[in-house]
Amino acid sequence: EAKHKGKNRFRIFSELLNAESHENYAMVEELSLAIERNQLSLAVQPIYSSEDYRLVKGEALVRWHHPQFGSVSPEVFIPLAEKHGLIQQIGNWVLAESLKKLPHWIDVFGNDFQLSINKSPFEFYDHDDCMLLLKHLLHENGLSGYNLIIEITEHSLLEHTDVTERILASYSALGVKIAIDDFGTGYSSLSYLKRYVVNILKIDRLFVAEMTANSIEYQLCKGIINLAKSIGVQVVAEGVEDDSQLALLLSMGCEFYQGYFFSKPVSVAEFGHLPGRFNHVPENLAAQPR
Ligand code: C2E
Ligand code: MG
Ligand code: MG
Ligand code: MG
Repeated sequence: EAKHKGKNRFRIFSELLNAESHENYAMVEELSLAIERNQLSLAVQPIYSSEDYRLVKGEALVRWHHPQFGSVSPEVFIPLAEKHGLIQQIGNWVLAESLKKLPHWIDVFGNDFQLSINKSPFEFYDHDDCMLLLKHLLHENGLSGYNLIIEITEHSLLEHTDVTERILASYSALGVKIAIDDFGTGYSSLSYLKRYVVNILKIDRLFVAEMTANSIEYQLCKGIINLAKSIGVQVVAEGVEDDSQLALLLSMGCEFYQGYFFSKPVSVAEFGHLPGRFNHVPENLAAQPR
């Protein structure tokens, strides 16, 4: 009896596994067609400066809308794309689309506006291709590297170290800024700061979400901000959802803010129409002179 049950359980388990891999397989196949079928789009989330709550940066975030699956989260399809060799074409599409729009946003938000783009180190394996494409797209759109930021998650820096180091150094030579995304969730953060050219740290939104006065997260945020300041890199707080989080981060001297409190990611068309300053900050948190 028990043996029988065990066997059954195994059968059910393996059927589940099979069903899952079929589903993934279908999804990978659909993902490989997403670009030619115009199913990808960009969302952009504004990033504000603490100085005067000016909109100074934006982060491009890829979206996939499939007629049957609906909207699939990048947290789901980016790892699939990485695993199945599709990340390069998606990443190139994101870069091309973003840089096409960037000149307009520089017109609207000023010459110091910077657009941040997420990159997976899986995209970096062909150094020459990467560099050629980036140079070509910058040139085609009349851009210098200055207005572009490349975000790499701290986590993904754990592997891929050599290729990533080379690519980031080459990008940096073009004036492109490098941000470490989801900072604080990896394992050997501090050694990265020495190894890679880094311009910006983005504090992971989980820290911001869990942060209350006197919490461990509060101390971590404070530590990251102090570290960033002491080595002269910018710091962006991600996932700021309410004014109490903003108040705490402001008191720590955090310079840049991104999160639902300010704005959700919006469409490319909407982004160019966002006000150049965020005007809904409570009076007690109004811009501090520096
Ligand atoms: P990320 O780069 O850390 O991007 C920030 C994520 O946090 C975005 O999720 C954004 O919508 C979300 N977010 C922003 N503010 C808030 C907030 O106040 N509260 C909450 N709960 N969430 C907030 P999204 O767009 O779903 O992207 C998820 C992840 O997928 C990104 O995390 C990034 O790692 C990856 N991703 C997105 N677009 C691309 C891309 O073009 N290329 C690559 N390689 N990865 C991408
Ligand atoms: Mg990011
Ligand atoms: Mg992040
Ligand atoms: Mg993330």
